[in-house]
Amino acid sequence: MIEFRQVTKRYGSDHTALRQVNFGLERGELVFLTGHSGAGKSTLLKLIMVMERPSAGEVIVGGQVLNTLPRRQVPYIRRHIGVVFQNHQLLFDRTVFDNVAMPLEVMGTPARDIGRRVRAALDKVGLLSKEKMNPLQLSGGEQQRVGIARAVVNKPPVLLADEPTGNLDPDLSADIMRLFAEFSQVGVTVLIASHDIALINDLGRRTLTLDHGRLTAGVGAAGSWHG
Ligand code: ADP
Ligand code: ADP
Repeated sequence: MIEFRQVTKRYGSDHTALRQVNFGLERGELVFLTGHSGAGKSTLLKLIMVMERPSAGEVIVGGQVLNTLPRRQVPYIRRHIGVVFQNHQLLFDRTVFDNVAMPLEVMGTPARDIGRRVRAALDKVGLLSKEKMNPLQLSGGEQQRVGIARAVVNKPPVLLADEPTGNLDPDLSADIMRLFAEFSQVGVTVLIASHDIALINDLGRRTLTLDHGRLTAGVGAAGSWHG
């Protein structure tokens, strides 16, 4: 579903954020991405979202080589990628329902489908009863789950998360991880950038480790890395 072939990313002429990175993620895999601050984690996610382009090598998502993708096609690729942020980026001037509906509205989904899709997404994260509330009325863990509902509302085959549990205590973090695991079980490819070594070790999943832009490890407990 996601493949990096010898991917190098330079910013300007003298800064190399990723060096000859190779890996592949299968459909339905849940994989962590870790490494020190500045190791290149956000850069790797941005390449998948086509917010940046590689300086060398190939980034392939869903069989599409993204390197040469015309700019006008970028929004279509992004529809297939759900993104969850640490600070969830919810809008506090509208309801939970309207926050989750936003990606569908941007895509021009017919109104009759929006209600059904939004409620299906809220149901998956256990927040169906809170659709009319303002996100400000929710706890931090609930707000993060609204962010996840919004990321999956159009059923993307790929879900990326950048430090999704950064502001949460261990119990809530475990809940969020359980949700991600459920999505991977229905075939969604999930890639989670995280510093939370304790949580990562607990879950015993395959983990890609970046060190100064190089991938130094990718063998999780499952030993499923072939890169
Ligand atoms: P991480 O997410 O692991 O902290 P990043 O991918 O954000 O790492 O950054 C990797 C390296 O690339 C860092 O040294 C960072 O300073 C640099 N970098 C990231 N974005 C840019 C940019 N837009 N311009 C120049 N350098 C950047
Ligand atoms: P539909 O919109 O087809 O009526 P639902 O929204 O209820 O159906 O979802 C149908 C099934 O698809 C659910 O079991 C759901 O978990 C699963 N599914 C498949 N891909 C995804 C995805 N990317 N995100 C969330 N759920 C997904």
